[in-house]
Amino acid sequence: MNVIIFGPPGAGKGTQAKFFVKNYNNFQVSTGDMLRDEIQKNSEIGKKIINNMNDGKFVDDEIVNKLIKNVIFDSTKKNKLVFDGYPRSLTQAKNLEVLLNESNQKIDFIFFLNVNKETIVKRIEKRKILEKRSDDDLDTILKRYDTYMETTKPVLDFYSKNKNFYEIDGDLKINEITTKIEAFINV
Ligand code: AMP
Repeated sequence: MNVIIFGPPGAGKGTQAKFFVKNYNNFQVSTGDMLRDEIQKNSEIGKKIINNMNDGKFVDDEIVNKLIKNVIFDSTKKNKLVFDGYPRSLTQAKNLEVLLNESNQKIDFIFFLNVNKETIVKRIEKRKILEKRSDDDLDTILKRYDTYMETTKPVLDFYSKNKNFYEIDGDLKINEITTKIEAFINV
């Protein structure tokens, strides 16, 4: 089963992705983690993206698409992908469709965690203390939210027409969201 968890920063995508890792043997595909890893390694990609990441701006589609391609064509992960933070633009969504087609895969479920801005600010401030991420200060958080709204809205329109698209109130508690996801899967 391949799944997309979709929603603004701080919506709880990573947390719900881990539910799939634990219960369905999925591999978490977090482009945010992959990009932070490149910065950590001080790789060529890392050097190119550090400013955008710290400013709360998106990394170029071309770079993210290249990282994603390796994962999709990894046969050990075939049909076990849970996407968290990808796709975030229409170009990425279309790229994902092409890559999945080429590798004989499809998306089985798209879960949209819809959360309001106030909840996100509260959650990310909490996460900042727990995870010490350099892009988690309030200004950057708000910038990331606005970037998300601008760039990701077309992706929402693109997916919301699919019959495997499910919108969930992301203001609910973690376990309540998980229960809803399970219910949709088990229909
Ligand atoms: P995240 O951990 O998903 O909140 O992502 C943290 C940051 O990584 C974002 O603010 C972007 O700068 C960058 N990023 C993560 N995923 C993507 C993506 N799919 N496209 C572009 N930039 C991304």
